Amino acid sequence: MDKLLFGISGLPISSGLKTINYASGIQYIKSIGLDAMELLFVRNVNVTDKNRDKILEAKVENNIYLSAHGSHYINLNADEQKKQDLSIERIIKAMEGLLAVKGRSLVFHPGFYLKDSKEETYNTIKENLMKLPYKGVDYRLETTGKRTQFGTLEEIVSLCKEIKYCKLCIDFSHIHARGNGTLKGYRDFVKILEYVCKELGRPVLDDLHIHMGGISYNETGERNHLPLLESDFNYVECLKAIKDFDVKGCIILEGPLVEKDAILLKNTYSKL
Ligand SMILES: [Zn+2]
Repeated sequence: MDKLLFGISGLPISSGLKTINYASGIQYIKSIGLDAMELLFVRNVNVTDKNRDKILEAKVENNIYLSAHGSHYINLNADEQKKQDLSIERIIKAMEGLLAVKGRSLVFHPGFYLKDSKEETYNTIKENLMKLPYKGVDYRLETTGKRTQFGTLEEIVSLCKEIKYCKLCIDFSHIHARGNGTLKGYRDFVKILEYVCKELGRPVLDDLHIHMGGISYNETGERNHLPLLESDFNYVECLKAIKDFDVKGCIILEGPLVEKDAILLKNTYSKL
């Protein structure tokens, strides 16, 4: 990618439009200066034969980058094989929904440790990821915010190293929450980008998918999303590190203020 895009997760909230759907939402976010939308397939794949053409038309016309967030019910380390297979099916269905509207990146949380060791979990998840077909949509494994979830930065980076169609989705707020507030200043963000660059190579920073937003947490990790200005997540220093590393790709804002906070990120970044 030749630049860094800013976008929202799901539909915008303050468009004033009577009917807000993916197609009208895409037009609206373009009109306010945003560049990307992450479709929410968390409950079901809501790109269907009915709305597909309109979404694609709006996407192409407005030159908007599309990604999607996969189901919350994915667990590639579920106890039963049947449930693991169902998770793979869910990922494939989401990938196909996103492919139909020319989306680029399917983001998901790979699974939970349950009673397994970290190593066992890693191996099971890896085996299952290797069963996914590659059709041009990148599988973006997200760093997760709860300690019961598989998905430390190291785990995700290692999987990306081993499976070439798996790519990184860095959720900085999740990393912060998982560590009970570890990301305090500029150096903390720099360390993450240095690590990614060292392990996966510079090209990864030229096409990175990033999640960011205000977040509340406790010793078990993530609790819920918050407006940026009501959280201790240091988005200014995070954006500084991103700018200093000349990161390109896409930043998706997650949080209750949706496009308002996405604009805050974009404006803050452009003034740095
Ligand atoms: Zn997520």
